[in-house]
Amino acid sequence: MRILILGGSSEASALSHLIALRPDIEATVSLAGRTAAPAALPIPSRSGGFGGVDGLVAYLMAERVEAVIDATHPFAAQMARHAREACAILRLPLLVLTRAAWAPVAGDRWIEVADVEAAVAALGSVPLRVFLTVGRLSVPAFAAAPQHHYLIRSIDTPQGLDVLPRHELLLARPPFSLADEKRAMSEGRIDMLVSKNSGGEPTYAKIAAARELNLRVVMIRRPKPEASQALHDPAAALAWIEAHRKAP
Ligand code: NAP
Repeated sequence: MRILILGGSSEASALSHLIALRPDIEATVSLAGRTAAPAALPIPSRSGGFGGVDGLVAYLMAERVEAVIDATHPFAAQMARHAREACAILRLPLLVLTRAAWAPVAGDRWIEVADVEAAVAALGSVPLRVFLTVGRLSVPAFAAAPQHHYLIRSIDTPQGLDVLPRHELLLARPPFSLADEKRAMSEGRIDMLVSKNSGGEPTYAKIAAARELNLRVVMIRRPKPEASQALHDPAAALAWIEAHRKAP
């Protein structure tokens, strides 16, 4: 069975490890190509955009793909939309494999906002020391609030850092431990954390650390609507593939 996995998330990676043990499933993981050295995958991968919905339709036909799993990051809204449209055109089964969003618990001091621009505004006018963990591409938006000092954590170096007059860069790849996150926030004398509501375990420690240190968190809500057919567990996605196998 020929499957396309739209990747760029830990769920896509976990699913690819399960599929690697299954010679009867021929799957390719697609990456956008944004990360300079992506983590190694145990099954074939391709990299780069398809060229919109038309390009994706052409790819799915040329590769005779039988089902698509959208395992992109919860904030990759455009790729998710393209997958929905292309699969509708070709009448291909589509599964969304995503992690559940984080929910605030007692002690959390979240300021929930709709998007990155609203997160910038939520920091306010008084200069703060801000821990920015929003992903490389969202960093330049914070040039609109140059009064703050930013501790920026990212896998690769963001472009356009010179627009932020006061910043430090921390290059690191998740997972992060609670102790490490508390240390980073204490040593950085952080006043406020900015995070996307990505969900999942590997990056939750920063949220718990902010709670323990009584820090406010500007939490950016997810852009994607909840998919009607979404699973959170890579093993369940494998069962979904089985269920969509055509009879020989
Ligand atoms: P996006 O806004 O939804 O997509 C923008 C364009 O990038 C898409 O139209 C598509 O180009 C290309 N693209 C995105 N994901 C792709 C994939 N898996 N394979 C091939 N092409 C892809 O996506 P984004 O927010 O820029 O995220 C890019 C990638 O990084 C995604 O794969 C996502 O899983 C990962 N990621 C994103 C975030 C985040 O916060 N947004 C965080 C961690 C990881 P064409 O139209 O040319 O096909």
